[in-house]
Amino acid sequence: MFKFFKKTVNGLTKTQFKIKGVLAGFSGKKYLNDDDLEYLEETLLQADLGWEIVEEILDELNNPELKELSWEDRFYEVISTKLNADELVHIEKKVIILVGINGTGKTTSAAKLAGYFSKSGEKTQLVAADTYRAAAVEQIRTWADRLDVDLVANENTQDPAAVAYDGVTSGMAKKMDRIIVDTAGRLHTSPNLMKELNKIYRIVKKVTDDISVIITLDASTGQNGLLQAREFNKYLPLDAVILTKMDGTARGGIAISVMRELSLPVLYLGVGEKVDDLIPFNRNAYLTGLIGKSEGVHE
Ligand code: GDP
Repeated sequence: MFKFFKKTVNGLTKTQFKIKGVLAGFSGKKYLNDDDLEYLEETLLQADLGWEIVEEILDELNNPELKELSWEDRFYEVISTKLNADELVHIEKKVIILVGINGTGKTTSAAKLAGYFSKSGEKTQLVAADTYRAAAVEQIRTWADRLDVDLVANENTQDPAAVAYDGVTSGMAKKMDRIIVDTAGRLHTSPNLMKELNKIYRIVKKVTDDISVIITLDASTGQNGLLQAREFNKYLPLDAVILTKMDGTARGGIAISVMRELSLPVLYLGVGEKVDDLIPFNRNAYLTGLIGKSEGVHE
């Protein structure tokens, strides 16, 4: 757990650098004037905390009840009331259908999840239901070999729903603990591809109800990720989010926007390209990472 904590904090370095820098500049001030608030507002919007949340934070920061605290601590107190998350969340379901637009890190996340579960001793199977790109199947096959997990793929069909069906049926028969279905990336603006995703979902649902649909959102695309999720959700019911590429962005505040505005839990953060660069979302670690407070202060 300590390792995950550290990795979360490290993954948020870029965001933290900005927010912490502004708050540090306020030290010694008794209250924040309009210029200070404007500067902070700009920084928080750049960190992708979302307009509504930023306004609330600014309103509450000068609250006299917090006046004994440093600006960092005041910020922590205020922002922690905005983070609508359990301390630590798990995926309970057996079948995980990963969806998302191209390049958001879906296939990498499928592999990382497979690594995560198999390391925890769970029998895990990957299903390559991306039938459009031969390279996608190759990519996931390479991961499956490296991780030594089962893979179901079929290069001879163009029908992703058929592969998903076969993969889930055989995974259930083999009593897998986890079956991770990687779907083809698609644009949320392409109705035909989105309908196909709905078909995959319906077909898997015929086999079992034990399904979680998880969308990968690239954290560096910020608020645009919220739009993507809303569109996907019109075609199949999203259960949760994996926020990828947190390591490369100063927009780490997006996790709060996702949870508040979409009412979906962020389950994992992607903080790099390696298989163990997927970390379970931890509320305390996230908040600590966001403003760079020393570890353990708020445990
Ligand atoms: P897909 O098209 O959504 O399946 O995307 P891929 O899984 O192929 O990932 C696209 C690129 O993003 C690859 O180069 C990945 O290595 C990279 N990537 C995925 N997740 C992360 C992450 O959390 N951090 C970083 N830095 N790169 C990532």
